Amino acid sequence: MHMTRINKNNMFVAALFATVFAVVGCSSSETPDSESFAATAEDFVDLIIDGQFVVTMDASDNIIENGAIAIDDGVIVAIGSGEDIHSQYSAAQTLDGDNRVVLPGLVNGHSHAAMTILRGVADDLALMDWLINYIFPAEVQFVDAEFVRIGTELACWEMIRGGTTTFVDMYYYPDTIADVVDKCGMRAMISSTVIDQRSPDAENAADALRKGSDYIRRWKGRNSRITPIFGPHANYTLNAEQLQATRQAAIELGVPISIHMSESLFELQYSKDTFGMTSIIMFESIGFFDGPTIAAHVVWPTEAEIKILAERQVGVIHNPTSNMKIASGISPVTDMLAAGVRVGLGTDGAASNNDLDMWEEMRLASFLQKVEQMNPEVLSANTVLRMATIGGATAIGLGDSIGSLEVGKRADIIQVGFDDVHHVPTYDVVSHLVYVTDEQDVDSVIVDGKILMRDGQLLTIDTKRVATEARALAAEIRIALDERNR
Ligand SMILES: [Zn+2]
Repeated sequence: MHMTRINKNNMFVAALFATVFAVVGCSSSETPDSESFAATAEDFVDLIIDGQFVVTMDASDNIIENGAIAIDDGVIVAIGSGEDIHSQYSAAQTLDGDNRVVLPGLVNGHSHAAMTILRGVADDLALMDWLINYIFPAEVQFVDAEFVRIGTELACWEMIRGGTTTFVDMYYYPDTIADVVDKCGMRAMISSTVIDQRSPDAENAADALRKGSDYIRRWKGRNSRITPIFGPHANYTLNAEQLQATRQAAIELGVPISIHMSESLFELQYSKDTFGMTSIIMFESIGFFDGPTIAAHVVWPTEAEIKILAERQVGVIHNPTSNMKIASGISPVTDMLAAGVRVGLGTDGAASNNDLDMWEEMRLASFLQKVEQMNPEVLSANTVLRMATIGGATAIGLGDSIGSLEVGKRADIIQVGFDDVHHVPTYDVVSHLVYVTDEQDVDSVIVDGKILMRDGQLLTIDTKRVATEARALAAEIRIALDERNR
């Protein structure tokens, strides 16, 4: 791990160049000298975040000891030593950095947020048994816009509390999900699910595609934190024509797609029987990768398929807890990374996990590769932390704007407290973040420059109300399930 100090002077020079170019753009006669720039250098910004360590996750893995970040208008405007930042900027708000580690917000690349309401409703079952006999029927019976609103609020509460700032969701009633995300302040890519069966918000694939297109038109460009996308469920719940039609609609509307891919041995066999080829080859054969794709799971890719994923720049989301709990298998994450595939991490839904804890995903991703290969050197703490931050951001197509702490990027930042006993002592910050830190250690969460949680207090979600609503809804579901199974 590097302990390089970011050179503030370089950044200062860069800022100066930017100023020079801006000035040259309108009048070529004068060139400001550094003194006149320095005279106006004390800037007033929205927020300064301090950290005993600022873990940037930039290309050189820079970690700044006693660092600080200045944020204005939702953007990181400066990053460097606390001394330099505080002498150059004053702020409306500051977050104290004693015993705190600052890092980019975590990116949950695959979730079904509202399924928090179904957490624990059916466990210890095989994927298809779980889906066909429990989840799909329960969803058709119980899921409506109100279920989705409460479940998504519950999920956002859990994710913010645990330091997740961005998630890629796939569920029903996407307008409701988008409303919740709009209000709670997180960043999300929200899929309109396309599935060829009666679902809570559509009759079949054609109906889902039509409604999804309308939703995307409603939300595209409306809120910079929210990206509406399509979520065709999988190639065992949609045929080739329906998958192609979804890709075509996504291309026409200019949005990415998120989908389940090569998740289980069931899917592998189904794909061979139905299409005469394995899933990823099948998707490639119908031109599915002609637009940006976020593929969840990818547990069973062949060597040839890994090549396709790398060449087509498919973002793969590894969900180790879900893969372990449903016994889907162990994804060849190290092989994919070595082949240049963009791999991020996700939790999947709370019904197959059963929480939305990205710290646990990091730990399990690393341990699972180590034990599978009987090699403790694979998937190091730093590699896994990259998957949860800049790697995940890149996999979902947002790597240019989030995922690392760099000047010009959107300010999606978390502060983790290192006061608790399991962080005493700390030799290596990254090792602790991956192998020790848990959700409760997260102190403050900032998305797009706005504080969503401060010192453990949620500021954008009425947690008491959400808990009351979730318990009441679960009580209704329990009574209905008991009657049904009687
Ligand atoms: Zn899923």
